[in-house]
Amino acid sequence: MIMEPVGKTIIISFMKKLFLILLLCLSPCAVGEGLPDLGDVSQTVLTPLQERQIGQQSMMQIRSSKQFLEDAEINDYLNRLGSRLVEKSTEPGLGFEFFSLNDYSINAFAMPGGFIGVNSGLLLTVQSESELAAVLSHEIAHVTQHHLARMVAGQKGDSLASMAAIAIAILAARSNPQASQAAMTGIQGHTIQKQLDFTRTHEQEADRIGLDILQKSNFNIHAMPEFLDRLQKATRLLEGNLPGYLRTHPITSERVADIGNRVHKQPYRLIEDSLDFQLVRTKLIAAQKIATDAIAYFSDALGAQKHGNPVAQRYGLVGALLRNNEIKRATQELEVLRKQAKSNPMIETLAGQVKRAAKNDADTLAFYRAAVQDFPQHRALIYDYTDLLLQSNQAEAAIKLLTEQLVRHPSDATLYNLQAHGYSIQGKRLEQHQAQAYAYAWQGNVFAAVEQLELAKRAGGSFYQLSIIESDLRELREMLDARVKR
Ligand SMILES: [Zn+2]
Repeated sequence: MIMEPVGKTIIISFMKKLFLILLLCLSPCAVGEGLPDLGDVSQTVLTPLQERQIGQQSMMQIRSSKQFLEDAEINDYLNRLGSRLVEKSTEPGLGFEFFSLNDYSINAFAMPGGFIGVNSGLLLTVQSESELAAVLSHEIAHVTQHHLARMVAGQKGDSLASMAAIAIAILAARSNPQASQAAMTGIQGHTIQKQLDFTRTHEQEADRIGLDILQKSNFNIHAMPEFLDRLQKATRLLEGNLPGYLRTHPITSERVADIGNRVHKQPYRLIEDSLDFQLVRTKLIAAQKIATDAIAYFSDALGAQKHGNPVAQRYGLVGALLRNNEIKRATQELEVLRKQAKSNPMIETLAGQVKRAAKNDADTLAFYRAAVQDFPQHRALIYDYTDLLLQSNQAEAAIKLLTEQLVRHPSDATLYNLQAHGYSIQGKRLEQHQAQAYAYAWQGNVFAAVEQLELAKRAGGSFYQLSIIESDLRELREMLDARVKR
């Protein structure tokens, strides 16, 4: 038995949740049928459940968009930093989710229910981890003060689905003003446009509460005015081309003065950046360059031009050498790196990739076994290890590990994809197509998910397995029907 019935129940309930989210997303007319009664949504304040659902619906759209940055290491880092801050907020129990977008404009945004997005451009602009923590704290405060929810509720939509449409339109406009008009067609576009930006009161409240979170989490609170100041100075050179962050979080002189007053009475504390923060930034810097340019850049940084953190720079160099297929030099630099640095899961992940490229499979499998034991929560390491297990004809071991991880990360499409690959090696057609269907469903591709479930049904299986597939199929088809009717 590969999958225990208990594990299955967990996964099914998550699927059920996904279906409810998708259903709301796609079909306003279907709301009310088979869904919990959410009460009167024309009130000025949404319930926490409504906020969460609106956030989840928006999140589904973001996950299926090209902008979503599918880098488990960057997203896991943001969640570690984020939860450290949320713990010190007024709602430590709210399940926040932090994620990154592949967008070089400078912006960060919050959605109702605790979903917070950070553009790669912002991650590259901040000069310290305290600055990033300052931006996240400010966004966390927008959520715990229910600012966006109040904006959405203020639109007096008549159903939860139309509210979600409004939330998504607001989000689209906030991240991409050009797309906003198209997204808002038919949904009270003009009213929304006027209310896109947080009000001054919202901003001041988010600053005040954000500063409190930042201080309680032991970051440098001076980082908040420093970041805003640098952003403003940089903007003057851009001549009216305001970064998204300043547009959606308007800065007034009153606001700057207010933060300055609060901060300047406090002593300046120099807080060292974590290695993870530096490695995440290095990864993003490297991603902007072609491999040979990245090699030159990091070699310069480590050589006569010495600047930055040598561990992070060497991490960048090893990654660039690997990309350029210079495996021998990458192996040598990696040895130096591992002597220089404390044990770190991102460095271990890179080490595994270099070892794999050197094609010493037995040695590499042993390396991964130890690394996964040291860092069982590091998803990037799990992806690579299970991929190697699958290539080494060890599908059963891979599937066991993937199934355990899916309990922890039930919406991770990459884990489902790897699982589907494992079942295909084992010749388990039903399980293969079922896992593939879940991968597609979580990516928002309902049509492909239905196709896979059809294939799973045709492959045949136990009564129990087939009835699960029937029930999943029914729900997905309802969604497709609703979409056609609309
Ligand atoms: Zn703001």
